[in-house]
Amino acid sequence: MKRKPERIYEDVKSLKKGLDRLTLATLAELARIDRYAADDVGGSSGPKPKNQVSDPTGNKVAAKRTPDPVGDAVKAIDRRLSNMAREMQTLMQQLDYALNPRARHRETAVIYCQACEREVAGTASDRLRSGYCFSCYRKWLSQERPNRGAFEAEQKRLDADA
Ligand SMILES: [Zn+2]
Repeated sequence: MKRKPERIYEDVKSLKKGLDRLTLATLAELARIDRYAADDVGGSSGPKPKNQVSDPTGNKVAAKRTPDPVGDAVKAIDRRLSNMAREMQTLMQQLDYALNPRARHRETAVIYCQACEREVAGTASDRLRSGYCFSCYRKWLSQERPNRGAFEAEQKRLDADA
């Protein structure tokens, strides 16, 4: 490791401290603060609350999205936490891989596409790209790299329908 265990543990403690602040009550408070959906457009009275029927006279035509820095920050927190959860999942897999020879064996033997969950051979022509099989990876790129969680849920749903 490049850093001393004691130094890394400082990071771990700082992460724990941060996560401890994110109680369900805090998250509920964030949801309350960010009352506006991302694509709401404002009339003269500002953005409309979610689920409100839009104005039939068409305020939308000329209106631009009202700046909403607080709402943007809340949405960024949401995205960041989702990314952190994904990072943590990968981290735990790497931890298992590093500490456990049996997990290591399992991982080298069988790998799966994170989107469609198809088994990937791991050969030059059939390998994981960014965690996805070739076809899912192409699809992900063609959709201009959408949020991975949403993309993966969509692929699993498509698979279940097929
Ligand atoms: Zn796939």
